Amino acid sequence: MIGALITLRGVVQGVGFRPFVHRLARENDLAGSVRNFSGGVVIEVEGSRDRVEEFYRRVSEDAPPMANVVTKRIQSQPPRGLETFSVRESALVDEEFVLVPPDICLCRRCQEELLDPRDRRHRYPFINCTDCGPRFTIISDMPYDRPMTTMRAFNMCDQCQREYEDIEDRRYHAQPNACPICGPHLWFRDQKGYQARGEKALQEAIERLRRGQIVAVKGIGGFHFCCDATNDQAVARLRRRKNRPTKPLAIMSLDLNRVRSYCRLSPAEEQLLSTPMRPIVILERRADSPIAAQVAPGSNTLGVMLPYAPVHVLLLEGDPVAIVATSANLSDQPLVRSNQEAREQLSQIADAYLFHNREIHTSCDDSIFRFIAGQPMPIRRARGYAPSPIRLPFESPPILACGGELKSTFCLTREDNAFLSQHIGDLKNAETYQFYLNMIQRFQHLFRVQPMIVAHDLHPQYLSTRFARELSEGGQKELKRVAVQHHHAHVGACMAENGVVEPVIGVVFDGLGYGADGHIWGAEFMVADYKAFHRMGQLRYVPLPGGDVANREPWRMALSHLYSLCGPELGTWERSLFSHLNAQHLEGVLQMLVRGYNAPLVSSMGRLFDAVSSLLGLCQHNTYEGEAAVNLQVTAENISDPLPGYSWSISRKGDYITVDPNPLFSELLQDLRRHMTIPEIARRFHQSVAELVGLGCRHIRAVSNLSRVALSGGVFQNKLLTELTVDLLRRDGFEPLLHQKVPPNDGGIALGQAAVAGYQNRKP
Ligand SMILES: [Zn+2]
Ligand SMILES: [Zn+2]
Ligand SMILES: [Zn+2]
Repeated sequence: MIGALITLRGVVQGVGFRPFVHRLARENDLAGSVRNFSGGVVIEVEGSRDRVEEFYRRVSEDAPPMANVVTKRIQSQPPRGLETFSVRESALVDEEFVLVPPDICLCRRCQEELLDPRDRRHRYPFINCTDCGPRFTIISDMPYDRPMTTMRAFNMCDQCQREYEDIEDRRYHAQPNACPICGPHLWFRDQKGYQARGEKALQEAIERLRRGQIVAVKGIGGFHFCCDATNDQAVARLRRRKNRPTKPLAIMSLDLNRVRSYCRLSPAEEQLLSTPMRPIVILERRADSPIAAQVAPGSNTLGVMLPYAPVHVLLLEGDPVAIVATSANLSDQPLVRSNQEAREQLSQIADAYLFHNREIHTSCDDSIFRFIAGQPMPIRRARGYAPSPIRLPFESPPILACGGELKSTFCLTREDNAFLSQHIGDLKNAETYQFYLNMIQRFQHLFRVQPMIVAHDLHPQYLSTRFARELSEGGQKELKRVAVQHHHAHVGACMAENGVVEPVIGVVFDGLGYGADGHIWGAEFMVADYKAFHRMGQLRYVPLPGGDVANREPWRMALSHLYSLCGPELGTWERSLFSHLNAQHLEGVLQMLVRGYNAPLVSSMGRLFDAVSSLLGLCQHNTYEGEAAVNLQVTAENISDPLPGYSWSISRKGDYITVDPNPLFSELLQDLRRHMTIPEIARRFHQSVAELVGLGCRHIRAVSNLSRVALSGGVFQNKLLTELTVDLLRRDGFEPLLHQKVPPNDGGIALGQAAVAGYQNRKP
């Protein structure tokens, strides 16, 4: 007989952990107790040595699906002669904190009950248990208890209450537990005022989707616009009404079999699609796919997810191959959260609504991943992942990192936890900015973090920077402010999520970030750790004619590079590349370049992709961020065989390299004149950029002896480029680090800011 005290930390509350421990203890004939404490659970056990060891192994290995045991520890203690195993309640002390579970998809057992005509929850769209269901989006405060969730509006019936109190039951302490008698319900409403409730509402929604209508469906963290994904007219109508001409729309199918009928799937992709987090996964589309071309015009991929809420299963259970399920919001605005907002904001787009009366406390978008170089890379991190912490490789003081501006997120740290917010969006939109401020408040409260340091970007005009300033200069003077250069933050994020502390070679290719020299950066070679970075190379500065406008009009960068190559006297053929413009407009922008006004200097790989995409006639106006680069990538992916890259001209000054793309443009224009195909030219360009990374890294290795390379920045969402680059680096003896937990785009920089500021101010 031995006694032991076991401590587990991680996501172990609100996920059915204590009943699991109770069962496991009884299976092993152990006496003792389990109770929650801040950040975890403590288990006391007594029994035979073998059984205690068995228990200790299985307590993490066989943990419930939503649990995430991060650390476990065992200490021996003298047995006290206990006879039973008990579950003890515990009060939460004020500054103590527990991890808030993310929203997890309907589990297999609940899905079986949902579709079982004999079950009392047959076709009940709010079925859940301790292994599944909404969490983050319905929790208003911790500890996680029904009165602290939006389920407080519903009183459990006797039967639900019995399940809730029975430790043998799968719904023991399942806070959102409900049934058709006592829980939330669905209703349908169309624009003409027709209404239906419950099962009738579902049937009506299914019928409307079948007829090609657009239905706004309330789900877990917000609404989706849904329509039949095989109906070209329905999808085209949604695009028109949403004023979204080309950006791909996500689709949802009932199961993997249906997905296989229109996409090619690797086993790893199948696994990611099926995880309880249920992200959208970007997959290769089959040539014979029945999905409407309008879902992702001109693209060779589709963003697909499996159902995660019971209502999705019920909508998809019949015939549909797939439905479009795209976030229901007005462009750049936050997600619609309440029924009233939906009626006010979505009436010009939706033909009908499928509402429910379980309130969404916190809205949360769908997460998006793509497999790149054999690893899952997040493009957007939100539902299923937030607010689970990312583990830092060191202990940080409490920090608020304010993030960037366009794909903004923020990050709070506590000990070695980095709580990165869900994707928030473009702060220049007033409602989104308000949402950002609210979420910062909510995260600080949920995780009981009182920041001592506020970290932010160098860009003086970013709203996140101004907010950081206001915080430290306003009411909270004791707050220390740390400015982190944009691309240093990108590298910091990549290092932190990969658990790296030692210096790395950083290669950051993105759109635009404020440089330490006051110019705009975005094609950076650096040596960096959390303490500092040294810029070791860049693309030569070129003017960005028109400033911000040029981000939406890729042809402006094309003109800038042609001007740099040929001077102001463009030939007839060069001018013909701008035949989409009137001559006066072209002349006006050319004059900006000649005189150097309204043309800030940039060194940006994103803008270089824009220029090439425009010259090849693939995109002159972006209707969404990054469209020109996406078109260039998709075009290049038509060529599967390698082609040689174009040339760069490199000049060195000491250890510093400046890369001039003029030779590249000169060769590329020759190819264009010789009528080489556009996909071949696009492919050669991708090869050139991968070769440039290799070249820059070899240069830095020669002076620093480093061989680990952090690849970050939005440009590395480009699958072809990243795979060419990773392959080339590995063959050259480098160890590339990619993003797997946070996006390489600006959605990840808050983590990098937190890591940099946290490490610089860490406890010794
Ligand atoms: Zn369940
Ligand atoms: Zn009930
Ligand atoms: Zn960036």
